[in-house]
Amino acid sequence: MGWVGQSAMKCLNNRNMRIVTTLVLSWTAASVYAEGAALRFAYIPVSASHGAQEAMVVKSGSWLRQRNLSHGAILIEHPQGTLLYDTGLGREVDQQYEENSAWAKALFGYTQVTPVADQFEAQGFDYRQLKAIIPSHLHWDHASGLVDFPGVPVWTQPEELEAAKKGRPPAYLRSQIDDPRINWVKLTLDLKPFLGFSRSKDIFGDGRVVLVDLAGHTRGQTGLYLSLSSGQNYLFIGDATWTQKGVEDNMPRPGFVQWLVGVDADPEGALNQVAALHKLQQQYPRLTIVPAHDEFTAARLPHYPEFAE
Ligand SMILES: [Zn+2]
Repeated sequence: MGWVGQSAMKCLNNRNMRIVTTLVLSWTAASVYAEGAALRFAYIPVSASHGAQEAMVVKSGSWLRQRNLSHGAILIEHPQGTLLYDTGLGREVDQQYEENSAWAKALFGYTQVTPVADQFEAQGFDYRQLKAIIPSHLHWDHASGLVDFPGVPVWTQPEELEAAKKGRPPAYLRSQIDDPRINWVKLTLDLKPFLGFSRSKDIFGDGRVVLVDLAGHTRGQTGLYLSLSSGQNYLFIGDATWTQKGVEDNMPRPGFVQWLVGVDADPEGALNQVAALHKLQQQYPRLTIVPAHDEFTAARLPHYPEFAE
């Protein structure tokens, strides 16, 4: 193990200590609020990818197993405000997707899209009730629907918006970022460790809806922790890894995918995040960690308009 590897191990050990401390504290705080508070969330399924062998999406994956990664969003209803985490593919995704080269189009193909905006309309939900949209990050498959919600504040860490503005296809698509309909609002996380992540933001001050810094996959990726009255806790991790298997096995995306499309902005940081999530899952097996695209994890979540609370 070289110098870099040893430093990473030391860093991880410190991180573990923080994970234990912050989890104990946060779960104690959550139990205080358990009575009477109504926080609920729903997974909104939007689309699926054309599919690939599992070995294409996680290093420990099988070449014999087919995966059809999913695209979706999370609707969170808290007594003090309704939030949307990610948008999935939006109403204009086909036009947006035209910016891609032929090979990228082939690689990231998607199936029939049911945009979040359409699902809201079908349920009679007025999107203007949203307090904010929080994209986990601004890659095309998470930011596509932002233009469908004109004027709604979009909370984004400044590093992420900066990277997106300079970004290129296939990761970032211009038409999804440079659009006057989007109301960008700078998201500043506090220097408060939470779940072992160095920065966080407790949105309503009750420990129930907490954003965490998950930089690595992108410069300003943001994770979301939810603590429900039922005692169930969830951590939505964007694309820290594409699959639950990545968390379980402590495995990144395959090296050749990184080489081919440079998926992670900071490959070493991304690796550290996967290792931290793996430890977190080992220590707290009841915490449900949700990668944005794992179709099996998504299948176990309540599907909009059904909620878990
Ligand atoms: Zn993604």
